[in-house]
Amino acid sequence: MSAVNRAAIVNLGCKVNQSEVDAAARLLRARGVTVVGGYDPADLVLVNTCTVTAEADAKSRAAVRRARRVNPDAEIVVTGCSVQTGRDAFAVLDPTARLIDNHAKDGLLAELEALVAIPDGPAGPVAGALPTLSGVELATAADDRNVAERTRAFVKVQDGCSFFCTYCIIPTARGPERSLAPETVLADVRRALAAGHREIVLTGINIGTYDGGWSERGPRGSHRAAALTLPGLIRRLLDETEVERIRLSSIEPQHVDDELLAVWRAADGRCLPHFHLPLQSGDDGVLHRMGRRYDTAAYAATVARVRAAIPGVAIHGDVIVGFPTEDERAWERSLAFIRGIGFAGLHVFRYSARPGTAAIRMAGAVDEPVKKRRAADLLALAAEARASFAAGHVGRIVDVLFESRLPDGRWGGHAEDHVLVAAAGGDLENAIGRVMIEGVDREVADRAIGSIVALDRPKRQIRRDLPVLTEQFGGARAV
Ligand code: SF4
Repeated sequence: MSAVNRAAIVNLGCKVNQSEVDAAARLLRARGVTVVGGYDPADLVLVNTCTVTAEADAKSRAAVRRARRVNPDAEIVVTGCSVQTGRDAFAVLDPTARLIDNHAKDGLLAELEALVAIPDGPAGPVAGALPTLSGVELATAADDRNVAERTRAFVKVQDGCSFFCTYCIIPTARGPERSLAPETVLADVRRALAAGHREIVLTGINIGTYDGGWSERGPRGSHRAAALTLPGLIRRLLDETEVERIRLSSIEPQHVDDELLAVWRAADGRCLPHFHLPLQSGDDGVLHRMGRRYDTAAYAATVARVRAAIPGVAIHGDVIVGFPTEDERAWERSLAFIRGIGFAGLHVFRYSARPGTAAIRMAGAVDEPVKKRRAADLLALAAEARASFAAGHVGRIVDVLFESRLPDGRWGGHAEDHVLVAAAGGDLENAIGRVMIEGVDREVADRAIGSIVALDRPKRQIRRDLPVLTEQFGGARAV
């Protein structure tokens, strides 16, 4: 392989994935490599795959095919969950690509550094495999409005999962949970703040298992006592950095404990009133067969505790429709439960059987047309819920982190509780505006509109110099 002067990164999947490729891009740039757009001419292409659905696998393979087509002589490194679970397909597709096995967990950055430094290394798997770069975070994969993240920084604190929900391939693809040391997270947050970011989203595959870097590998449920819990980590971030806004990407409902809520309450507004709590089904029988670790009563109790602790909090969730054995009665129960929760936002997924998961052997498959009808019903409910949540802001004052200019010249951003807000102003990028909400957008029913009454301009503009191409599953996955 000749010297690497230009590298392209194609990224499929979740926010954990995004935070990891950001780190890879930073390292490449620090080594003097120009990081170019995903399919621009390059000497090295890193394709970070995902296996969350069969369609994600297909898109991952298509990304490798396209990378090779536009860069026939480049070194192509393919990594991530799709490689882990379907290595042979990639080997056939591009025999010269370096396929990175997830099972060895050496450092990605050290490997990339070695790769960049090797002037004429042989093709084939990199010695000492890269860790996986890909995973599943259903909510973000579903929300195409999150694609163009401009101002928020996604900081990975944890990887892997050993819960083995029966529909999920992630424990196989990414291995058991392990956490990043607090010093690593603190350094990453400080780097993001220095680069101008005003909001940090802490990401992980199963973030509630954060244990300060002391995770024990092992069979299901072997996660051990923590040296530092997630609330402890957040307390350190609040105490030791100047972070203005912290969110969690999503957290399993059973991991929302009193300690976490106490940190939120004591954070003086720096921990934002927005929790994404995956639900997956509102029927206890289906939840049980999914291998989820709560029932509907426990989920509802968690929501009630969060609401009691954090007034005005927005609760978002994920639901998978059409899981095996979800008959009409189960579906009706699920729908009624979901209605009763009063979600501010909901991501809807149709179940698709994944080889390697326990659910693939389950009887009681639901027909595709039925799944589609249920998904449509739930999407309608989700749209109503978002619109009514936005309408509930009229007359209130919210703090909005402005992210991007809308096509009509106004600026859009998210309030503390993640509601979308549009307002007029000059250059508002990365400014936090105090906005009086006056109505709801005529064009976009779930977007509040208002006037800026005070503006806190950023101390520095965001340094955005990493043209990583992120492919989303938008239409494909979000039904
Ligand atoms: Fe998958 Fe369940 Fe682990 Fe989430 S908690 S990554 S759904 S196995």
